[in-house]
Amino acid sequence: MTIEKTDTLVVGGGQAGIAMSEHLGKLGIPHIVVERDRIAERWRTGRWDSLKANGPAWHDRFPNLEFDIAPDDFASKDECADYFEAYAKQFDMPVRTGVQVNNVERKANKQGFIVETSAGTIEAERIVAATGPFQHPVIPSIAPVDDTILQIHSADYRNPGQLPEGAVLIIGAGSSGAQIADELQKAGRQVFLSVGAHDRPPRSYRNRDFCWWLGVLGLWDAPALEPGKEHVTIAVSGAYGGKTINFRALAHEGITLVGMTKSFTNGTVTFQADLVNNITGGDKSYLDILDKADAYILDNGLDLPEEPDARAQLSDPECLSNPILELDLAAAGVSSIIWATGYTQDYSWLKVDVLDENNRPKHQRGVSSVPGIYFLGLPWQSRRGSSFIWGVWHDAKYIADQIEIQRNYQAYQAPS
Ligand SMILES: Cc1cc2nc3c(=O)[nH]c(=O)nc-3n(C[C@H](O)[C@H](O)[C@H](O)COP(=O)(O)OP(=O)(O)OC[C@H]3O[C@@H](n4cnc5c(N)ncnc54)[C@H](O)[C@@H]3O)c2cc1C
Repeated sequence: MTIEKTDTLVVGGGQAGIAMSEHLGKLGIPHIVVERDRIAERWRTGRWDSLKANGPAWHDRFPNLEFDIAPDDFASKDECADYFEAYAKQFDMPVRTGVQVNNVERKANKQGFIVETSAGTIEAERIVAATGPFQHPVIPSIAPVDDTILQIHSADYRNPGQLPEGAVLIIGAGSSGAQIADELQKAGRQVFLSVGAHDRPPRSYRNRDFCWWLGVLGLWDAPALEPGKEHVTIAVSGAYGGKTINFRALAHEGITLVGMTKSFTNGTVTFQADLVNNITGGDKSYLDILDKADAYILDNGLDLPEEPDARAQLSDPECLSNPILELDLAAAGVSSIIWATGYTQDYSWLKVDVLDENNRPKHQRGVSSVPGIYFLGLPWQSRRGSSFIWGVWHDAKYIADQIEIQRNYQAYQAPS
């Protein structure tokens, strides 16, 4: 039986795998992209129904194709999935869908890897793991065992109609938790939102979207989180044409804000006394961007309209003046809990010594500690923008260059 061979096998056909294929193709490097479902499946079926991209269409895209919507609009999740499908078609990419990679091992005493897939064995000189920054939903161990309450992760939330009648406790107020809370409140639900430390940039300021501000201020290119900010999430939204996430405003609309969730005991949930701190920290991050933007405008002599209202702060809602520290779930009518508590990665198929003690890839800008293994799409792979649509394209270019450099060394032949 002949075994199929390729130079580079890309595992995963999301935006990372598609960007990788474009750059490998441009360098003429033979490769195959294998995707267990469909191209950009996570955008198609792994998000809630109303999700819009966090950035406007002019920004959240690859350089070589525009979205089929107005540049300042926010693409729906399906428009994003269609976009990546169209991209793969435009570059005639060798993507095989419905093929799962089950196992990758190094060849014994030889360069290259044996890849076991659901459609047979492939030998590859190199592997690019592009299986996503947000793979397995994480639900913390404090989750109560209580079959009277529906508990789901935000990855499984689709729309308000999916939840039983009653109030909802949402744990986690990053982009997912804050948007889901807003949607449920607007659908008439009573919502409790457990808010931790977060950054919340202005959606736009002085006639520029925050994506533009983060770009010109060099913040997308920040190489790592600031020390002490490792557990800080970012709350942004492209919903309703894009608007700033403002927790005080959400509270004035009827959402009850609470601090970080501490524990569940006998039907009562306890919250930390950190709500005011977390909201103030978010406000500080918001004002910090406004200050930096004002300084940039001044330094560069830009003519952008002033926006003093952006600094106005809403009054403290009751839930912020007197934060709830305990909630009897049954008495409050809570019938659902949504855990918007993030994701972890899974490389169980990669039987190569490239993970650290926390199962995280050992790598520098995606080049792993094992020659021939590369990662793409990791959070903070090279910069803040790495796991986002626009950023992964640039990381893919870098990885393709590194692959090309190694291929050139391997092709070297000493003069005889
Ligand atoms: C709720 C949410 C909203 C987001 N919104 C935005 C946004 O608006 N703008 C933005 O820039 N970013 C956004 N992101 C971040 C990021 O863009 C997405 O997470 C994006 O899906 C990441 O693309 P990816 O290709 O790296 O990974 P994925 O989209 O997760 O793609 C990985 C692919 O690998 C496949 N796969 C996994 N294991 C295997 C295997 N063993 N064999 C074969 N195939 C496999 C999966 O089926 C999947 O299709 C959002 C993330 C989330 C969670």
